[in-house]
Amino acid sequence: MERKIYDEDHEAFRDVVREFVKRYATEEKRKQWEADGEVDRATMLAAGESGIIGLSVPEEFGGAGMLQDYRFRSIVLEEVIGAGQGSLAGAFGIQDDLAVPYIVHMGTQEQKEKWLPGMATGEILGALAMTEPGAGSDLRGIKTTAKKVDGGYLVNGAKTFISSGKTADIVVTFVKTGEGNRPDAFSLLILEDGMEGFEHGKKLEKMGFHGWDTAELSFTDVFVPDANLIGGKEGLGFIQLMMNLPLERLSIGVAAAAAGEAAFHWTRDYVISREAFGERIADFQNTRFHLADMATTVDVMWAYVDRAMELYAEQKLTAEEAAKVKFWATDREAELLDIGVQLHGGYGYITEYPIARAYLDARVHRIYGGTNEIMRDLVARQIVGKR
Ligand SMILES: Cc1cc2nc3c(=O)[nH]c(=O)nc-3n(C[C@H](O)[C@H](O)[C@H](O)COP(=O)(O)OP(=O)(O)OC[C@H]3O[C@@H](n4cnc5c(N)ncnc54)[C@H](O)[C@@H]3O)c2cc1C
Repeated sequence: MERKIYDEDHEAFRDVVREFVKRYATEEKRKQWEADGEVDRATMLAAGESGIIGLSVPEEFGGAGMLQDYRFRSIVLEEVIGAGQGSLAGAFGIQDDLAVPYIVHMGTQEQKEKWLPGMATGEILGALAMTEPGAGSDLRGIKTTAKKVDGGYLVNGAKTFISSGKTADIVVTFVKTGEGNRPDAFSLLILEDGMEGFEHGKKLEKMGFHGWDTAELSFTDVFVPDANLIGGKEGLGFIQLMMNLPLERLSIGVAAAAAGEAAFHWTRDYVISREAFGERIADFQNTRFHLADMATTVDVMWAYVDRAMELYAEQKLTAEEAAKVKFWATDREAELLDIGVQLHGGYGYITEYPIARAYLDARVHRIYGGTNEIMRDLVARQIVGKR
């Protein structure tokens, strides 16, 4: 079904992304990123140069100024994931959906001037650290503290599962600056690589997304200057997270739709080319019914996700609507990839095939950014409240 959200500027940008993918996202590079557990900096710099990252950074700081227009980011996800390069798409997303928005939307003028130009070029890579060994879904249960001292804060604690935790130059870090777990007891601080007492721990071995790192972080009396308090005011951290989470969840929904569509294309091409019992796999009725279902699911997914992108552009995408998109799209993605793997037979299990990698990558879409159970709970609260 024809999608209606793109205009000529978007399609011209798609050509830029395709060119980038052809030149930089080669199979050789993919294998290198997976072996290293990270995308090399030269590729991130090339993405900055091509304008593929830093899309939401305002033009005055060297970005594309696409603050509320997620369609350009969607094109990056569609093209990069469609080329079987899920890890590269993830590395771009950590920068553009997790780190950059906090500084663009909530940073002080000084913070914007200091970090945004480098984030647009890829010279400065960011990460977002909320989760701790003892607190993920229940973020108000975090234990990392930031104690006020003269000129700044002393940070102590630990974070885990942090995407780009090893490679990031700056980490937007969720900390406790007050007592108890009231929303105003939390703040966001920017921790910089190299600060004394800030250790990037080991890279964690993951099921999928082998081409970007996920790491533990630890903080021992790390002095963080007042200038690194996001927004310049204490006690806003929880609200700031809540403000950005709809974007993070929309981004996962878009990635899920892109991977679901890619699953359909890879599967269609495979079943046309493969034969068994003297027929194409595509000629068996079971395959044909699945293909029809897949194609329809992809159409419905995009119709829904595209509407969410429109609402985001109008600044009307609520937390509940973003939660619905996140859990629904990632559940459909899982179904599409599962049937895609099945129709590939044994080859579907071999990670040389993009369908196998995408299947492994997709599993975390139902876990991070808020688990799909938490998403359903959020939606249910709006429907029936909570005692
Ligand atoms: C590869 C990867 C990358 C990640 N990247 C980042 C990152 O960059 N930054 C970051 O901060 N975090 C990151 N995370 C962490 C991720 O966001 C958390 O793992 C996730 O939010 C779940 O938290 P948890 O692991 O503590 O699970 P828990 O909260 O312990 O949940 C365990 C199970 O209980 C269920 N559950 C919990 N509470 C409820 C409830 N109220 N009702 C019903 N069910 C419930 C959950 O849905 C889940 O099924 C990443 C995780 C992974 C695996």
